[in-house]
Amino acid sequence: MCIMPHVVVIGCGFAGLTAAKALAKLPVQLTLIDRRNHHLFQPLLYQVATAGLSPADISMPIRAVFRGRRKVRVLMDEVTAIDVESRAVKMGDHRVAYDVLIVATGARHAYFGHDDWEPFAPGLKQVEDALDIRRRILLAFERAEATDDAAERQRLLTFAIVGAGPTGVELAGAIAELAKVALAMDFAASIRVRHGCC
Ligand SMILES: Cc1cc2nc3c(=O)[nH]c(=O)nc-3n(C[C@H](O)[C@H](O)[C@H](O)COP(=O)(O)OP(=O)(O)OC[C@H]3O[C@@H](n4cnc5c(N)ncnc54)[C@H](O)[C@@H]3O)c2cc1C
Repeated sequence: MCIMPHVVVIGCGFAGLTAAKALAKLPVQLTLIDRRNHHLFQPLLYQVATAGLSPADISMPIRAVFRGRRKVRVLMDEVTAIDVESRAVKMGDHRVAYDVLIVATGARHAYFGHDDWEPFAPGLKQVEDALDIRRRILLAFERAEATDDAAERQRLLTFAIVGAGPTGVELAGAIAELAKVALAMDFAASIRVRHGCC
């Protein structure tokens, strides 16, 4: 009887998912572990942050991707440690032994020594980040609509983005589109700021 090696993949982002899809075709037992039950398409997070898409549009259940694959087991859990000596992944008290381990847990955003900036400028890596940014943007429009002070309205409708890589540039474009097209029809204040009148 041939015993198949047990491959454990931690993380089902682009890296983990791509590895798992390829491994699922090979003679291996596969266990995928992610603290979330869905794969997230991060490149479109900025669309969720600007109300162009909803979170469900950019999330895909991991179980659905591997539906019908009997050699693939999906676990929703947070890996807390790896015991390299005994070849086991730990999730609290729960352990999963492995023959081969792939760690694909992604990266976090960094403030380059300025962690105190985080409350004012959240990163954009998870659905929660996008929803937080969306809430801040939409609330700024609501508050601008409610004030009679033109300077305050201008302040509320001024958005600063630090970082002009793809995410920053896409976000800037989406905020401009939101202000000039989508919300302009619903908010009188936005139109007044755009035309420079109070
Ligand atoms: C806003 C934004 C826009 C982007 N746009 C582009 C683009 O246009 N083109 C492009 O090529 N790239 C783009 N990228 C980059 C690209 O999305 C990332 O490089 C890619 O998603 C990284 O994949 P990953 O699998 O390494 O990590 P992730 O996608 O971050 O996946 C890591 C997974 O590991 C899980 N995990 C983490 N820790 C644990 C743990 N302890 N236990 C269990 N599970 C855990 C997480 O839940 C997650 O599912 C963008 C990224 C962002 C944030």
